[in-house]
Amino acid sequence: MRALCWAGADAVEVRRVPDPELRNAQDMIVRVRRSITCGADLPLLDGRVPEASAGEVLGREFLGEVVEVGTEVRRHRVADRVVVGAAVACGACWFCRQGLLACCDNGTSGVTAEPEWGQPSAGGFGRPARLGGFAGGHAEFVRVPYADVGAFAVPESVSDDRAVFAADAAPAGWYGAELGEVAPGDVVAVWGAGAVGQLTAGAAVARGADRVIVVDDRDDRLSMVARHAGVEALNHRYVDVLAELRERSGGRGPDVCVDASGVPAEPNRWPLTEADGGAALREAVHACRKGGVVVVLDARPGVVDRFPLGALADKGLAVRAARRRGATAIPELLARMARDELVTEHLATHRMPLERGADGYALFRDRADGCVRVVFTP
Ligand SMILES: [Zn+2]
Repeated sequence: MRALCWAGADAVEVRRVPDPELRNAQDMIVRVRRSITCGADLPLLDGRVPEASAGEVLGREFLGEVVEVGTEVRRHRVADRVVVGAAVACGACWFCRQGLLACCDNGTSGVTAEPEWGQPSAGGFGRPARLGGFAGGHAEFVRVPYADVGAFAVPESVSDDRAVFAADAAPAGWYGAELGEVAPGDVVAVWGAGAVGQLTAGAAVARGADRVIVVDDRDDRLSMVARHAGVEALNHRYVDVLAELRERSGGRGPDVCVDASGVPAEPNRWPLTEADGGAALREAVHACRKGGVVVVLDARPGVVDRFPLGALADKGLAVRAARRRGATAIPELLARMARDELVTEHLATHRMPLERGADGYALFRDRADGCVRVVFTP
């Protein structure tokens, strides 16, 4: 089959790779209909992930049609249209039983990120195998392990371009608002107007926040989130963000501050020892009202310097963090999509055949031409 692979150095290319096969009774094979770019791929594309091997198939978020099921798969049949959660989890270990699917002990493919993170987390599609990853969705076919845990049938009325965001971006945004315990009347600030930041803002609105303010340095993304999520936008190139946020929150500061700024664009090494970046997190800690909640969302470099620990303690802030939600929110998000309460397809600003994967990632990396996410079709 054809697949978009990491080619070493800083290149991606479409290669011919062997078709995936069922390996376990709980596996299924999906024929991909849509896959999308993800910011967590960028360090890989820049050659910043030493664990990656050339030839590994990229693609964390995808949707497709079931073509083959293992003997123990109960919830899916051939020809079902499914979206597959980006975290691979077993559904049966202690963490999965607590609903913490992204913390699964058994989802990785064997060798894990334990040296970097202290403990392994769930596996993921399109991540390097040495970091617990599986071949990804920028391909004609994908093997989906633990299919009953991570894959969900898409309601007929929901388009592919909408539903593919239920794989990871929408659950991440939903989780950002959930971890912040956003409640009616809250003022919420979100740093980062990429897909996850925009979906976090939308989730905060859905949970009844009084004001939601998104901070970014891109006018195109800010006007998109203002238009689609009905929220306020601040471009930190033009305004004093801290002063504006105080002004818009009765002088107290936002109740919940979500750093959804993602992986820094500058090519520092991932995920190891030294990192600048962290500017959004520092600003979030400074902006947040006393006793408020700061949420760190999405994939991050291993270390940030100059973390404002004193402000954190002095103001009595809670900090919560999650790279991913895991699949538990996907059914509810699909139901919201079916009721048009959650609209995501505008985030797919560009559509391309898989053959143009290298062009698509260049566009995505450079945020050129208003690009938020690129959707590939094999
Ligand atoms: Zn598990």
